Amino acid sequence: MKKYDFKRIDWKVDKVLVCPKCSELLYRIDIEHFKHCPYCNKNIVLNVEIEDYLLKPTVDKWITIQHFASGSFLSSGLIGLESEAGQSFL
Ligand SMILES: [Zn+2]
Repeated sequence: MKKYDFKRIDWKVDKVLVCPKCSELLYRIDIEHFKHCPYCNKNIVLNVEIEDYLLKPTVDKWITIQHFASGSFLSSGLIGLESEAGQSFL
């Protein structure tokens, strides 16, 4: 059974955590800074679900970087670097 519930209130906005005690909606920034519910003071225990939730922006950013790095952007960059290196070596 899941310990925490997350709710997507708007497609533009990331999921929010539903406080297990008072059911208020908690934003990532709330949990990151206080680790407890600002409404009822319920302690938010950092389990895998919460850690995944808190890390999601970082992971998304990393995935985006990987996506660009693995595409034609990197291969063309590498070819450029190689030919530059070759020229300077000669
Ligand atoms: Zn609460």
